[in-house]
Amino acid sequence: MDLQVTSGVIATLLEEAARAAPEECCGLLLGRDGVVTQARPAANVAQDRATRFEIDPMALFAAHKEARAGGPELLGYYHSHPDGHPVPSATDCDHASGDARTWAIIAGGEVKFWRDGKEGFEEMEATLIDQAAR
Ligand SMILES: [Zn+2]
Repeated sequence: MDLQVTSGVIATLLEEAARAAPEECCGLLLGRDGVVTQARPAANVAQDRATRFEIDPMALFAAHKEARAGGPELLGYYHSHPDGHPVPSATDCDHASGDARTWAIIAGGEVKFWRDGKEGFEEMEATLIDQAAR
């Protein structure tokens, strides 16, 4: 399945990663029908934020609630690897749930998208749509 991402989302992801460094940033990917239109930053509540991330459960709860009320769908999650590569780490694989949502990983000034599938992470082709953040 193809993924489409707005240029505004990519800009937000790169900004968030730079802002949080040397710690990991994290947040939610929101949109509809496979089109990510919003990257929503969330607090990283992990103890060791330089090498771990844990999305604030309240942010997740709010996003699920909004989706049920007709708001944007929770399409996935994002986090950064301040000193690494934009590929899932061993820790990421341990924490993957196989729920088929998208994980965006930001590292070294680039963003890569991965599908959290039953068989593990699979890189996704993301098509960029020219649209400002909203
Ligand atoms: Zn990671």
